[in-house]
Amino acid sequence: RAKMTRRGSHVIFESAIRQELENRLTLESELALAADRGEFELFYQPQVRLVDGSLVGAEALIRWRHPARGYVSPGEFMPVVNTSALSERIASWVMETACRQARAWELSGNGVRVAINLSPSQLDSGDLAHSVAALLKTTGLTPSLLELEVTEDILLHDESRVLDMFKRIQQLGVRVLFDDFGTGYASLSYLKKFPLDGLKIDRSFVLDLLADSDDAAIVGSTIGLSKQLGLTVVAEGIENRATADFLVSMGCEEGQGYFFGRPMPAVAFEKQFLAARLEAVSAA
Ligand code: C2E
Ligand code: MG
Ligand code: MG
Ligand code: MG
Repeated sequence: RAKMTRRGSHVIFESAIRQELENRLTLESELALAADRGEFELFYQPQVRLVDGSLVGAEALIRWRHPARGYVSPGEFMPVVNTSALSERIASWVMETACRQARAWELSGNGVRVAINLSPSQLDSGDLAHSVAALLKTTGLTPSLLELEVTEDILLHDESRVLDMFKRIQQLGVRVLFDDFGTGYASLSYLKKFPLDGLKIDRSFVLDLLADSDDAAIVGSTIGLSKQLGLTVVAEGIENRATADFLVSMGCEEGQGYFFGRPMPAVAFEKQFLAARLEAVSAA
């Protein structure tokens, strides 16, 4: 009997794996089709100076506009994209689309810094510094209007190569920020190894900041550490004014979160954030 049960669960396990594999393959082919059909879109979320809420930048965040399901979040498909043959194609599309958008805003007299999330494939293959330089040249975008966000899983790649690449990217005038700071296991050692311009405190420490004294201690010391190292610090996941005020009292300069604005299509971002800023300028 025991043997039969074991065999039984073995069969169930196998079919679960097969099911998962099938789901993945289906999703992969749907994603390839989506890329062909132009179903990906970049949303933009405002980044602000916390003391006065003024706009300092926008983070470009990918969405999949699914014909039946509506907008799908990157959490549901980027892990598959990043481990499939589509990775480089979508990463290049993100980079090109964001740079073109940033250049269009710059040309309209409404320049705003745009931050892009890098994918692992961009550090694996080819020369990222070279493609960034080429893109700046073809679009005409001012380098200081571009920022790249990297996460710890990206930094796990060949260290000396990544180090060299970052240096060359920064020589172009493009900033590199460490995203989701504090969630990985070696954040501090990466700060020491890589020439980063700043870090983004992960939203998991910010969301509950007012209620959780451990989070407050972690965020407070991360802000202090950043300042001592001369790094820009950006808090993500700010959902209310009290959290923003608390961050200001701890010395945090920049932030983003639903309180200031959700990620939104480029046109909505223009209307809500860029046009308002132009009006403020012309009224002054
Ligand atoms: P991330 O780079 O850490 O982006 C911030 C995430 O926090 C975004 O989720 C944003 O919508 C969310 N967020 C912002 N403010 C708040 C807030 O106040 N409260 C809460 N609860 N969440 C907030 P999103 O857009 O779903 O993206 C998730 C992750 O997917 C990103 O995390 C990034 O790692 C990845 N991702 C998004 N777009 C791209 C892309 O174009 N390329 C690559 N490689 N990865 C991307
Ligand atoms: Mg990011
Ligand atoms: Mg983040
Ligand atoms: Mg994240």
